[in-house]
Parts: sequence; structure tokens; C-alpha cells
Amino acid sequence: QAKITGRNRYHFFDADLDEQVRTHHNRRTEVRAALRDGELRLYYQPKLDMRKGHIVGMEALLRWQHPQRGIVGPMDFLPIVEHSDVIVDIGEWVIREALRQLQSWRVFDPRWVISVNIAARHFQRADFVARLKTMLSEFEDVPPHMLELEILESSALSDISQVRAIMLDCQALGISFALDDFGTGYSSMSYLKRLPADILKIDQSFVRNMLVDRDDLHLVSAVIGLAKAFGLGVIAEGVETMEHGAMLMRLGCDLAQGYGIARPMPAEDVLSWVAGFDAAPVWQAAASLPPI
Ligand code: C2E
Ligand code: MG
Ligand code: MG
Ligand code: MG
Repeated sequence: QAKITGRNRYHFFDADLDEQVRTHHNRRTEVRAALRDGELRLYYQPKLDMRKGHIVGMEALLRWQHPQRGIVGPMDFLPIVEHSDVIVDIGEWVIREALRQLQSWRVFDPRWVISVNIAARHFQRADFVARLKTMLSEFEDVPPHMLELEILESSALSDISQVRAIMLDCQALGISFALDDFGTGYSSMSYLKRLPADILKIDQSFVRNMLVDRDDLHLVSAVIGLAKAFGLGVIAEGVETMEHGAMLMRLGCDLAQGYGIARPMPAEDVLSWVAGFDAAPVWQAAASLPPI
């Protein structure tokens, strides 16, 4: 057994850190290879107008179809690359893929809007708008208003005036913006005042508990009121049951997304899912909801 001296310890520690760096590097390389090798997929989760009973669009959600591990969710690989330019390449792939998908879906329903999640690092690049324009020009038959970008409130943290300018440039092209996970960032109110958002997306953590937690119910209700006061649209995510949907309608939020309506699905399943969708259960739930 080797005697462990301070110096050896230092070496151990060093080797350990080295190992961590190498593992991180390897994992980043793996994700980059997944993009290059065509292993990334977009799943789509429908957004429902509960009152009107029809689908208004889809959110594109990234998946990695891993040859050994199967379907891997974005939280298991995007964090590995979010501080590198790999996130930019992935983001561009996602936008192109969504536009490509819109080429066929727009024929089915020209009112649909597909929303795409954009990472802060990608969104804040000086060439973001120019490159977006280029991508849109590659899909001339897709009107830009069919594309929506979802950004996290916290994305705006680093340079709010720059973010504001980018949003205005995109909106001039016809693209709309949703503030994702709204209510979870710690400066929601000041963002709301300074960022030209079109839609607030109520975070699923509030929606999930609103039927059992009065505070969350009030929070959801307040965000809906806030959206209305600012003249913005509002959508709830994480709508897991008909009762959630019914309560949201009662609170004045008609747009909903969640497992209670549909789980994210591969593009090829979307049209048949839509054809079979029936909004009646949520209306029945709304009719039988007890008073608040
Ligand atoms: P998000 O944009 O807030 O998306 C909502 C997440 O909640 C999705 O997880 C969705 O599958 C899940 N979800 C939807 N309805 C329900 C529900 O009723 N109950 C529960 N428990 N969960 C629900 P997912 O697909 O794992 O995505 C996680 C996050 O990863 C997204 O959160 C988004 O921030 C990020 N993300 C996904 N795709 C992309 C992408 O293409 N680019 C970037 N930059 N980020 C992405
Ligand atoms: Mg989102
Ligand atoms: Mg969200
Ligand atoms: Mg989220």
C-alpha cells in the first residue's frame, strides 16, 4: 500500500478533476455526434383552445434517439452543451426541422403555430436574427407567423436591452414570443414590463398543485390577470387532468398543454391524434366543477 502523503492526495484530487473534465468533454462530443449522425428528433405536444375545442398548434420538444439507450429527454443532454456552441447548432437544427414540418402541416391547418424552445446562449448571439431570416428564406412557403419562440424568463438576465432588440427584430419578421415557465424566474415583473412578449406560459409547477394548494391557485389566477392586463395571451402547461383544464377555463385561461390532453409524440402520429381528439371531456368537467 502506498503511503498517502499530502502530495499524493493532491495528485489523486488532480486526477479526479481531470477525469471529470474528460468525462464532460466526452459527453459533449457524444451530443455533437448525435446531431451530426441524425439521432435527434422532435416530438410534438399539442396546444388546445379548450373553449373552442380545437388544436391551435404544437410545441416542438427535443429527443435523442440513442442507439443503445433509447429515447433520451432534453434535460439529460442539453445541460451538457448549453454553455458551448453545440447548443447553437442544435437550436438551428430544431428551427429548420420545425419549419420543414410546417411545410406539410400548414396544408392541413394554416392556423397552427409551432413553438420552439430557444436557449439563452443561442438567442443572444449577434447573428441570431440574420440566421433566422436565412432559415425562413429556405422555407419560403412557410409563413413566419406560424413560428413561435419560447424563451425562459431567466434567458433575458444577462442583457435585457439586447434581448428586447432581438425580440423586436424577430417580431418584425412575424414571429411571436412566449415567456416559458413564467413565474419561476425571480424578476418576472420587470421582464414583463421590458420585454415585448406575446404570450405568458404559466409554469407547470403552479398548475400541477393548483387544485390542492390555494396559494398556487391564486398564483395561476394572478398570472392570468397579469397577462390580460398587459394585453397578452396566456397558456398553461402541465395540464394533467380535465379538472385542471376546467379550473383554468374558469379562471379565464383557454389555452392548455399537458399530459391530460396529449403527451409529446412523434410527428408521424400528430395528424391521426388530432383527427381522433374530442374536447367534450373537458367541457363536462367544467360543467361539474364546484364553485371556488
Ligand atoms: P418546457 O419548454 O417547459 O417544456 C415542458 C416540459 O414538460 C416538457 O418536457 C414536456 O414533455 C413536459 N410536460 C408537458 N406536459 C406535461 C404534464 O402534463 N406533466 C408533466 N409532468 N410534464 C409535462 P421535456 O420534453 O422533457 O423538456 C424539458 C425542457 O427541455 C423544456 O421545458 C425545455 O426547457 C427544454 N427543451 C426541450 N426541447 C428543447 C429544444 O429543442 N431546445 C432547447 N433549447 N430546449 C429544449
Ligand atoms: Mg417550452
Ligand atoms: Mg415550460
Ligand atoms: Mg420547463
